[in-house]
Amino acid sequence: MKDRTIGIIGGGQLGRMLAMAAARLNYRTIILEPQPDCPAAQLTNGQITAAYDDAAALAELSNLCSVVTYEFENVPVAAAETLAATVPVYPPPKALEVAQDRLTEKRFLNGCGIETARFHAVDSQADLEAALADFDGKGVLKTRRLGYDGKGQRVFKGPQDSPAGAFEALGAVPLILESFVPFEREVSIIAARGTDGTVRAYDAAENVHRDGILHTSTLPAAIGPQTQATALKAAESLLSALDYVGVIGMEFFVLGDGTLIANEIAPRVHNSGHWTEAACIVSQFEQHIRAVAGLPLGDPARHSDCVMQNLIGDDIDDLNDWLKTSDTLVHLYGKTEARPGRKMGHVTRLTGANRQEKA
Ligand code: AMP
Repeated sequence: MKDRTIGIIGGGQLGRMLAMAAARLNYRTIILEPQPDCPAAQLTNGQITAAYDDAAALAELSNLCSVVTYEFENVPVAAAETLAATVPVYPPPKALEVAQDRLTEKRFLNGCGIETARFHAVDSQADLEAALADFDGKGVLKTRRLGYDGKGQRVFKGPQDSPAGAFEALGAVPLILESFVPFEREVSIIAARGTDGTVRAYDAAENVHRDGILHTSTLPAAIGPQTQATALKAAESLLSALDYVGVIGMEFFVLGDGTLIANEIAPRVHNSGHWTEAACIVSQFEQHIRAVAGLPLGDPARHSDCVMQNLIGDDIDDLNDWLKTSDTLVHLYGKTEARPGRKMGHVTRLTGANRQEKA
């Protein structure tokens, strides 16, 4: 049993979709999640209901599983390292460490030859003023840790935007000021690396955010083959530098001339890869399970163009309209209460065959 059981830290919708993919390949899943009635608990074979860093719970998870993965990037690194002493943890804990801190992340990306926005570490109001002066008063100030969906950020559009009090307003925690990137579009690439070092990547998706939350991912992205190739090369060098196993999401800004600027990475399956379940034979969820279980990776080819749209909060009220729409795959997360900003599900509408494929 243990050799066919995968542990998942985190019980949200990503864990739920990983559990569904695992079941199709005859793998059992056990989640570690403190919240009892979470989306993943409804579909996994077992739940250890405890904090992510609970020593007894981690020991139990390691006893029950032959490999452990995670569905969110804020898993405590120390907990992942503790587990890794007794059971393989994929992606490796180093990937968590890099992704949890925007400063470490940018330095690591630059070290892999991947371009990012310019940046300064900001640990005081004086640091902020010096950093803004270097960027002509323009930039995006972000918390280094625990920011998500645009939270913990402040944009400075120019010298007219006073930085007074900004360091305190963001909580007087370690911050980073990034230069403002005048991007034309945002894209992401979902890639996977197997235990044998094989890398497979899906086509880049073009992403539109609303109120800091992903709204749609559209395939194909309006980028040329050169830009797509650069994204793939970036993913390959990052995955190899981390000796990575599993799926990763990488978000980029695209400048007018097609230059790619990496924004952030997520060492897990990613919201901008949900379209793969409708437009590819092997979804990002199955690809991740294949990778961490040491199975051959699947073909990431895309058979269709498509648009994935998140159903956020009240969007769920339109469910019956989506259910009546042709060529549309509806996926709900088992959440009963539709709070504003809460991801309740997503839909992927196929918009035509991908005729460039295997022409
Ligand atoms: P993030 O939390 O880093 O994904 O940022 C949220 C959103 O803010 C991004 O999707 C962009 O639309 C915008 N943004 C973040 N960083 C920058 C930047 N350095 N320059 C311009 N826009 C940015």
